[in-house]
This record gives sequence, C-alpha cells and structure tokens, in this order.
Amino acid sequence: MASPAVEVRRSARRKRMVSARREGDRMVVFIPGWMSDEQERDWVAKMVQRMEASEARRRSPGRTGDEALLTRAQELSSRWLEGRTDPASVRWVPTMRTRWASCTPVDRTIRISERLRDAPGWVVDYVLVHELAHLLSAAHDDVFWSWVYRYPRTERAIGYLEGLNAAASLGITGVDGDPPTAEQDAELPDDRIAATGS
Ligand SMILES: [Zn+2]
Repeated sequence: MASPAVEVRRSARRKRMVSARREGDRMVVFIPGWMSDEQERDWVAKMVQRMEASEARRRSPGRTGDEALLTRAQELSSRWLEGRTDPASVRWVPTMRTRWASCTPVDRTIRISERLRDAPGWVVDYVLVHELAHLLSAAHDDVFWSWVYRYPRTERAIGYLEGLNAAASLGITGVDGDPPTAEQDAELPDDRIAATGS
C-alpha cells in the first residue's frame, strides 16, 4: 500500500488523547498541542500503522478468522448434530450477492459471507448449523430441517436474517437461496447448493 496522505491537527484544547480517523483518502491524526515535534512524529507513525492494520484486517479476514470458524463449526456439529459432520474447510468469503453461505457436500467445504461478520454469534451459529446439515442432507428436505431445528435458536435466527435482508434490501432468500420452511422447499431445484466457484 502506498504511504497515505496524513494530515496532523494540533489542538490546544485536546489534553491527553491522540486519535486518528480517515477522511476520504487522507488520514487525519489529532494531537494535543503540548506535544513536542518528536512525540508528534512517533504518534503519527503509530496511528497510521494502527489504522492501516485495522483496515487491512477489515478488508481480508486472516487465517485466524477461518480457523476460528472451523473450530466453531466442529463444536456446533458435536453439540447439535451428534458430531456426524466433519467439514473439510469453513471459511469467510467476500460478500455473495444472493446468499449468506454455501456448502459443497462433495468436498465438504463451507463458505460464509463476510456480510455476517458483524452479525451476532448465535446467528452465525445458525448459518453454520444450516450449512453443516447440508453435509447430512444436500436438499432442503424434511431430514435436513429436522437436523437444523436441533439448534434451538433456528427460528429466531431465520427471523433475524429476514430482518437484515429486508433492512438492507439485499434480496437474499433463506440462507443459501432456500426458503426458510421445508414445505416450500420441495418445489425448488436442487442446484442451489452448488459451489460458488474457486
Ligand atoms: Zn441451505
């Protein structure tokens, strides 16, 4: 990343705190008026580094993020699915236009949309249980839903995702293109669970 344009604003009224924020292309660092030039240099360097690190984290979730997701999926599998599922990988992927997540049963891979990164843990848990259950039943059939509903907050999580979808006008139905109930599901084709590529 090219070194960013940085603007320093000193304020006599600012007593202790150094802070920084992004304003368009620039980073603005706020410095108390009493600081020496040397302190200012140190703090600006520190704040720029900190902000770049946090922006990089937000842009691309690191391996730890994926590892934590896989660990969580394994916990949920043993807790709610009798440990019958063994995903090969579970990872965050860039926001998908029409899905919260997807599962490819043939190679046991699960992908979760980064759009859910800020969702409550129990909602992400539901999405994980949903995708894990596809390893037991690829279709959204009765068998599938009977597994999913072992997770006690399923109904609430479905409601939460519907609300999120409506609020942001995302046009996402169900978790991975499925309707939230088993009955409606029977009429839909099965190719909804296909891989999203790569
Ligand atoms: Zn599904």
